[in-house]
Amino acid sequence: MSMIIQKPGKEAEMAQIDLHMHSYYSCDGQYSPEALVKMAAQRGFKAIALTDHNSVKGVPEFLAAGKKYGIQAIPGIEIDTVYRSREYHILGYHLDWDDPRLAQLTQAIDNAQVELIKTMVRTVNELGYAITYADVLRYTNQKSIPGFASIAKAVLADKPGLDMDCFKFMQHYLAPNTPADFLHKLPKAEEIIQLISELNGVPVLAHPGVYLDPNQIEAVQVLADLNNAGLKGIEAYSTYHKDADNHKFHQLGLDAGLLITAGSDFHGEFKPSVALGQNCATDYPVLQALNHYA
Ligand SMILES: [Zn+2]
Ligand SMILES: [Zn+2]
Repeated sequence: MSMIIQKPGKEAEMAQIDLHMHSYYSCDGQYSPEALVKMAAQRGFKAIALTDHNSVKGVPEFLAAGKKYGIQAIPGIEIDTVYRSREYHILGYHLDWDDPRLAQLTQAIDNAQVELIKTMVRTVNELGYAITYADVLRYTNQKSIPGFASIAKAVLADKPGLDMDCFKFMQHYLAPNTPADFLHKLPKAEEIIQLISELNGVPVLAHPGVYLDPNQIEAVQVLADLNNAGLKGIEAYSTYHKDADNHKFHQLGLDAGLLITAGSDFHGEFKPSVALGQNCATDYPVLQALNHYA
């Protein structure tokens, strides 16, 4: 694939492209797929991608809404994977989202996650929060399976005095207490990169700053390794990154011959500080390169 990559410029900022957002088909998303498209259209966005956690269930509604509101709606997914004993998120764009292999994979991840949530309910009980799995289900989006967000909502509803939002509760109490064996139930990053490619999609490493320090040689090694496995892009621009790191990942991505993408990782109220389109500098050449796969 030939790629033309430009540094984000003024023109790119004028008509925005946001390639990472969650609907209520994710356990931590607030809005329906159609509501996301409507919001983006009203703000004059050119294209957006739906990237729910391990789910493409919102894609049909999202694509229909794209036609209705006249903006490009790109089908996508964000898959939980494991790489070198850490959780890595791999985005897939323009993939054959209705392929049964994807349904089989997402079902297996869902099953592992439901087991994890039951275990984590016991963990928060030990931390002194008396919630049950039934409580967690009450705080789960109708369209998704329970996740960390559901536990956080259940705990915070029970303890209104706790000075913390759902995302912070998740970061402080849930993520660090996740049992290591859960990771081994996730598919390997390399396998998912390959599967997305087989499904005619574009595999992109989500928010690399969550797992990699762009100043360390490890970042170069990991990118080379995943590149060998078939990775095609890196989400250099993310609301998870500091500004300086966005630029460093941009350069590392260019050095590795990867497509440079950007996404807000918008969730709605679960991450109240992140707006739709925030920190997005994905420009037209990248969109064109992605659209080769449409
Ligand atoms: Zn992610
Ligand atoms: Zn995400």
